[in-house]
Amino acid sequence: MYESLHYTQEELDLRDQARAFVEEEIAPYMAEMDRENKYPWKQFKRLGEMGYIGIRFPTEYGGGGKTIVAETLVNEQVGRASIAMACARSVTSYVAHAINEYGTEEQKRKYLPKMFAGDWPAAECLTEAMGGSDAARIKTTARKDPDGNYILTGEKRFQASGGVAPVLLVYALTDTTVNPREGMSGFIVEKGWEGLHTARQFDTLGYRGLEVVSEMVFSRVKVPKENRLGKEGDGWPMIVSMLNGERTIICGAFIGSAQRCMEIAAKYSSERIAFHKPIRKWEAVSFKLADMAVTLESARLLNLQAGRMIDRGLDATKEAAMAKLVATEGAFEVIHNAMQIMGGIGYTTDYSIERHFRDARNGLFVAGSSEMMRLIIQRDTYKELLGP
Ligand SMILES: Cc1cc2nc3c(=O)[nH]c(=O)nc-3n(C[C@H](O)[C@H](O)[C@H](O)COP(=O)(O)OP(=O)(O)OC[C@H]3O[C@@H](n4cnc5c(N)ncnc54)[C@H](O)[C@@H]3O)c2cc1C
Repeated sequence: MYESLHYTQEELDLRDQARAFVEEEIAPYMAEMDRENKYPWKQFKRLGEMGYIGIRFPTEYGGGGKTIVAETLVNEQVGRASIAMACARSVTSYVAHAINEYGTEEQKRKYLPKMFAGDWPAAECLTEAMGGSDAARIKTTARKDPDGNYILTGEKRFQASGGVAPVLLVYALTDTTVNPREGMSGFIVEKGWEGLHTARQFDTLGYRGLEVVSEMVFSRVKVPKENRLGKEGDGWPMIVSMLNGERTIICGAFIGSAQRCMEIAAKYSSERIAFHKPIRKWEAVSFKLADMAVTLESARLLNLQAGRMIDRGLDATKEAAMAKLVATEGAFEVIHNAMQIMGGIGYTTDYSIERHFRDARNGLFVAGSSEMMRLIIQRDTYKELLGP
């Protein structure tokens, strides 16, 4: 277990408790979640009972009253077992963030305690077939009826937990005559409402068991006006405020996953003999481990910077993008190298590396692709260097 100058003792204690809990109650079930492609209801509930879903939210709604840095550390421990499981945990927290920032008192009291208790996983419904990286191109609309309620029409796809979540945060256009960044709004929709249909038609390389939907159809779903989140037109700022936290917390999952794979490879390279000595004695192997350690430590430090900035109320758009880029690309590279060190056995299900490898590949586009991260970083860097 690494130690660090940069975390408080309270954060380190939380990390260690979460790690022990995950090893005992989460990790043993992750191969099955992946193999059976089954949603991890029981493990999700246990995370809620341990207080690991609402960590950074106010205690009055059942949260833990801690920070984004604390939540990222917990997400890292869950990621050691499975990135997919960490995603089930964290996507509920991203939705909670929007409700906590923009919701009414009634909305917070109705939804947050059940989400934090692990009873109601939530799904974040932004992406559509024509609106992925270019999220402003979404087509789903929410038209006001004469009573002030909304009629939601459109199709989403790729929602993690979308097939099972009782609570959906849906982004839709309330005004199609203006720029979508001004005409988009958020709505809380509940599973089972008339006109809402979800389907899982395609299979995925990783993130298995997470019920990532291929189709979420809203056929004139009636949404009471009380379920609009924030004001009309708040949708885009809501997405932006969610995404910086999301990109920071997500880093934890990928760093944890890669750290676990590095540990497995380190042990294996000390035990596996080739040409009369443990393979770690060959520099081609041990130097890989050096590079892996450097990559992970860089990712952690960038991630910590973004987290601390958000916790202090600073704009961390560039820093969160940098952290997300380095953590996800770095994790994929580290896991790839861990598999290389293991040789053929790393490619089998005898070790969890092949599962981490499949999950980690999604890091290069989920929550904004690597290209989008570079787009943000170059934009802000040019601004800093040359002025607006
Ligand atoms: C397992 C999984 C879980 C997901 N979970 C969720 C979820 O919970 N909620 C949700 O709303 N969405 C979710 N997504 C969707 C995810 O966020 C999108 O896949 C992602 O934003 C990319 O969008 P896209 O797939 O439409 O790709 P596109 O936007 O079509 O991009 C295709 C390629 O073009 C590149 N590209 C696009 N524009 C540019 C540009 N201007 N410059 C350079 N390159 C560019 C992209 O980087 C990418 O490489 C999930 C996806 C997966 C696979």
